[in-house]
Parts: sequence; structure tokens; C-alpha cells
Amino acid sequence: MEVVKPVKRNILLNPGPATTSDAVKYAQVMPDICPREQEFVDVMTKVREDLVKVVHGDTEKYTSVIFTGSGTIVQDALVNSLVPEGKKICVINNGAYAARMVEIAGHYNIDCVDIKSSTTDLPDLDEVKKVIESDKDIAVVAAVHHETGTGVLNPIKEIGRMAHDNGAIFIVDTISTYGLRPIDIEEENVDFVMSSAQKGLAGMTGASWTVGNIDAIRKSKAYPTRSYYCNLFMQFDFFDRVGEMHFTPPVQTVYALSQALKEYFEEGEMPRWDRLQKCWEAIHTGLGEIGLKSVIKKDIQGKLVVTVEAPDDDKFDFATLHDYCYERGFTIYPGKMFGLKTFRLCNLGLINEKDIQDFFVVAKEAFVKMGYTLPVKY
Ligand SMILES: *Cc1c(COP(=O)(O)O)cnc(C)c1O
Repeated sequence: MEVVKPVKRNILLNPGPATTSDAVKYAQVMPDICPREQEFVDVMTKVREDLVKVVHGDTEKYTSVIFTGSGTIVQDALVNSLVPEGKKICVINNGAYAARMVEIAGHYNIDCVDIKSSTTDLPDLDEVKKVIESDKDIAVVAAVHHETGTGVLNPIKEIGRMAHDNGAIFIVDTISTYGLRPIDIEEENVDFVMSSAQKGLAGMTGASWTVGNIDAIRKSKAYPTRSYYCNLFMQFDFFDRVGEMHFTPPVQTVYALSQALKEYFEEGEMPRWDRLQKCWEAIHTGLGEIGLKSVIKKDIQGKLVVTVEAPDDDKFDFATLHDYCYERGFTIYPGKMFGLKTFRLCNLGLINEKDIQDFFVVAKEAFVKMGYTLPVKY
């Protein structure tokens, strides 16, 4: 991919969109094309195959279905399309993104069993098992792999087994792990994963997809069509028959996604995961040097997001910290936790250990500017 002129590199430590390569940015600059042309259909077909490969799906059993939209559109499509008439969805709810699936079910008047638990801890698997076993109307179990709001990594393999033991399908929001943490869809007992181009693959916003079980999609043809635009079977069927999206695809985003996938396979699954784990370790090292604490216990973190407990005093000001870092090319993000002063540092994109170390040089200056002597005590 030809890079005409380097673009200023910003280090995004927010929970997506992520830092991208210049080649991905420039991949969008293509001659105008009607997406119904075979040339574009070929690009789309290759992208769809590669999306299945990222999670090691057997292409006889799994396919990918892409929608035009941000990640939430896939949560919406799966929740509204996979629950048969009169049946229920059960959501393992220990964070903001699981809560979003509960809300989506509510909007479609789908019966939802909401297994709500602390957002700072893992779900209680005994309770999950009891609930799923005792309610034979549960047809779909849903969970979030990595709660981007906190950084907690959920035990999807175990939950998936419970779903399957009780005849339910298992859908998992892997939007902040797909393309980052290695996932083997079948080995993890998952029927449907989700992702979005601007997250782990470090592409551009505008395309999101599921990789899912073909039989389960075909069965869902008989279920109520609760949405016209984001019905899973309708979108799958169009891809299957015509090789294209039902409606206009995000053409330039798909070109960027194609380049991002190329870079993903060139870097390799394990080297990529090693690079990201090093970033996460560097975040913990930097926080330790400033004297800051992580809200979530380190051993249940997904190694992709750290929620930082901010000092609860008059000196700390998120806006000051944010602006100081932002002016120097680093973007941090507020927390998503109720009643606690927090902020988040996410290592989702095309960044490395050195970027994190550079960030902490700047972050330390910002803490001194706010009036702290380091290490901070609180
Ligand atoms: C980013 C993200 C989403 C989707 O959010 P959008 O704002 O719609 O892109 C959903 N789930 C998780 C876990 C995420 O990290």
C-alpha cells in the first residue's frame, strides 16, 4: 500500500477507535467504484473469509456477516435475530456492554433473564449454571468476553459449555478482544462472536460483523423479523446468494479493513498478542511509578484495558490530565464506573511498549502540574 505522506501519529489509549497504520488510512483513497461491481465483491469476499480465519473458524461451519455501523449494531442484530418466538435470552451482566444487550432485548420486547453481578468481579458460575438449567425457555445465552468498561475478562468457555449443555446457543461480544487476544471460536464453545473494524484490527469505523454458526443462522429464518435493517438472516442470505451486503456497504471502510487484515496476518496472532501484553505490563509499571492503583484485580484483567483509580482529592482533575496528554499526542479516556473517580488506559491498537513509556513521561509531568509530588499518595 502506497503511503503518500506520513500522517501525524496519535497514540489512542481510549477504548476504540484505535491507533491505525498509515497504510490503513491510505487504503481508503481508491478510485471511485460502484460496490456492485465484481471487483468490489471480490474484495468483500476475501475480507469475509479472513474474518472467519482470525478466530480459527472452520468455514464449513462458520461464516461472517458484516453490517454497516459501529459495534453496537452487531449486538443489536444478534439479540434481535436469534431468539425464537416465545423464548428467552439470558445475559451474563457484569458490565456496561452486557447491560447494553439487556437494553436491546428490552427494546424488542424479548424476554430477558438478566444475571446481574458486580462490575468489578467475575460472574458467579454456580449461579449462572443454576439459572440456565432451571429455565428451559432460554434459547440464547449472551456474555461479553472482555468488558471494555472495566477491563474484566469473563470465562466464556465455561459459560459456553453451560449454554450448550442446556441446548442454548452462545453469543459473545468479543468486540474488544477479536484480533487482539487469540480466540478459537469452537474451542471456546462460542456460536457467535462479534467485532468492529475500528477496534482490534485497527481499521476504520463503519463496518462491524459477527462470525457465526451457519446452521444457527439458517434456523433463525423462522424466527420473528424484529428489525428490517439489521436482521441477521436477511443480511446472511444476501451475502450467500449475491456475495454482497443487502444495502450499500461502507466502501472505503472495507478497503481499509482489507489492509488491516493483511497487516494482522503479516504480524501474526501470537507476536501481536505479545506486543499488546508488553503494552499492558508497561501500563502497570508506569502506574506504579506514579503511585496509582488499578481498580480491577490484576489476575482477572484481559490485559487490554486498565481502569485506574484516581486520587480522591481536590488536586486531581481529569480534564487537566487529559488536555495535557492530548496536546502531546496521547488520548486517555474517562472511567465508566459509578461512584468512583476513575479513568481508563486501553492498549487496543497499533501501539507498542515504547509508546506507553513515552506516554508515562508526559503523564508524570501532568501529575506534577496538578500539584502532586510523585509517587502520589492516597
Ligand atoms: C466498543 C465496544 C462495543 C461497541 O461500541 P460502539 O460504540 O457501538 O462501537 C461493544 N462492546 C464492547 C465490549 C466494546 O468494547
